Amino acid sequence: MDEKKKILIIEDEKSISDIIKFNLVKEGFDVDTAYDGREGLQKALNAGPDLILLDVMLPYMDGFEVCRKVREKSSVPILMLTAKEEEVDKVLGLELGADDYITKPFGMRELIARIKANIRRTDLMVSKQEAPSDVKDFGALEIDMNRYEVRKNGQTLELTLREFELLKYLAERENRVFSREQLLEEVWGYEYYGDIRTVDVTVRRLREKLEDNSSEPQYILTKRGIGYYFARP
Ligand code: CA
Repeated sequence: MDEKKKILIIEDEKSISDIIKFNLVKEGFDVDTAYDGREGLQKALNAGPDLILLDVMLPYMDGFEVCRKVREKSSVPILMLTAKEEEVDKVLGLELGADDYITKPFGMRELIARIKANIRRTDLMVSKQEAPSDVKDFGALEIDMNRYEVRKNGQTLELTLREFELLKYLAERENRVFSREQLLEEVWGYEYYGDIRTVDVTVRRLREKLEDNSSEPQYILTKRGIGYYFARP
């Protein structure tokens, strides 16, 4: 992996942007910057970044809007930079398709660890697409466990990596109930500041893509007071 990974920083506070850029360049990343939402969206769609660091409060177009618009066209990993204690920001960002978030103020070491983790996941996804198929059949739903592909009634569903990994984890363990904490640890795989709503948000997004009627799910079921499990309809 000699090729430098390209990071796009969309952040209007130049002092923050500069220090992030300085540290990422030192780590061997190729860094591009945008200082407002409009410019950021344009670069996100045209410059082909490997990961986007996206601030929430931005001139012209806020980070949520940028996130939503990028997601219409691209599955590039998005790491939202959210203000401290603004819980609503995190959940909204994840609902709009962000892959991860980090709360300001953050340490550079943590930021870089998050960036690397998210890029590794994308690389894994790309390499998985060349792997031999391993299709498991769940009625109308087919999951290719190796190639990270999901089809329903023969139609491919567009899942993010996290959504796929959660589905795969549950589907490989049919009818076993897992708590949100367990899923956070097993699927997200690193200390996630115990924000278990991340799991709920991802389940909700998965259901919207997977289920005929997401308010009466047939595949990903809730065990009230305990957690979630996968079942065949
Ligand atoms: Ca800002």
